[in-house]
Amino acid sequence: MQLLNGKTVTVILLLALLLLVVYWYIFQPYRDVVSFTQEETTEGRCTADVIVSVDHPFHLEDHLQYKQPSIVQGRTDVVTVTPWLAPVVWEGSFNPVLLDSIYKHKNISIAATVFAVGKYIMFLKKFLETAEQHFFVGFKVHFYVFTDRPNEVPQVKMAAGRQLTVSSVPSSKRWQEISARRMELIQTLIEEKLRNHADYIFCLDVDSQFHGRWGTESLGGLVAVIHPGYYRDDRSKFPYERRPKSKAYVAPGEGDFYYCGGAFGGLLQEVYLLASTCRSNFQADTKEGIEAAWQEESHLNRYMWINKPSKVLSPEYLWQDFKPRNPEIHIIRFSGVVKNYAEIRPNV
Ligand code: UDP
Ligand code: MN
Repeated sequence: MQLLNGKTVTVILLLALLLLVVYWYIFQPYRDVVSFTQEETTEGRCTADVIVSVDHPFHLEDHLQYKQPSIVQGRTDVVTVTPWLAPVVWEGSFNPVLLDSIYKHKNISIAATVFAVGKYIMFLKKFLETAEQHFFVGFKVHFYVFTDRPNEVPQVKMAAGRQLTVSSVPSSKRWQEISARRMELIQTLIEEKLRNHADYIFCLDVDSQFHGRWGTESLGGLVAVIHPGYYRDDRSKFPYERRPKSKAYVAPGEGDFYYCGGAFGGLLQEVYLLASTCRSNFQADTKEGIEAAWQEESHLNRYMWINKPSKVLSPEYLWQDFKPRNPEIHIIRFSGVVKNYAEIRPNV
């Protein structure tokens, strides 16, 4: 009886082993595709070793306490999303503490280009000083200054992790040329220096100062800023290039917003595409003997019509000092100074 029981047990064990081998054999190939290492992180998420190799874009590392979000309360005086569902960033539409905490763990670095050719060098000091106070504070920022007067670049004390590189560029007799050459230099900078050294890039006018926070809320694939001068107008009033001969042409009835040439940015790859496209379109125009109404701003607007920005920054992100503040503008973050064109431009 004892022996029989022993044999039975052995047979059962062997059968179980066989079943286990068969089970393992059947499911093994699928493991390559769907298996998860059932490893619980402290956040209670399972990490998948095979499929999920991406970093979640809004992963919260800390147990941060912040104001409860709402989908029924918030700004009602402005539109915070475009018809293609890109956020439009306004004060009150985001939580800066939450966003900074999310981006802090990503160890991102941001490049910022600024051109200070000829007399525009006079704007650089205030631009840099105020950037230290407001532009991505607490994050790695590398400013790239392009100037024909490298000796006049001011010494501005920068916080840890932030630096400045000066590149010499030739001066020019026409401001249109200086402005237009920016796309080419941005393209070359990304190709030659930034690859693998920066995640995001912002290209900014030097004749402007920061007055409020400009931070992680502005990050996105392709980022455009709505021009403060036209955002309440009908699109027929936008100063797009209207001659069909130009590669910057925007037809009547087309165009979403009028964007600034003085501030744009996004992921390196996106800005590279924008800069190289605008540059080659600008050059094609030159060959045809045409210069778009607002140079690279016109080309940028044409580009953004076809390639919609994934994040749109409200006019808080590039106001103009001479403009009275409209009621929907709760904060001015960056603003163009009042300047005497005849005095500072090489030609008028
Ligand atoms: N710029 C420059 N030197 C010039 C003209 C323009 O460095 O003589 C650069 C500078 O960065 C400036 C940008 O090109 O901010 C755009 O020109 P501007 O600010 O005069 O255009 P606006 O903002 O008045 O349209
Ligand atoms: Mn400007």
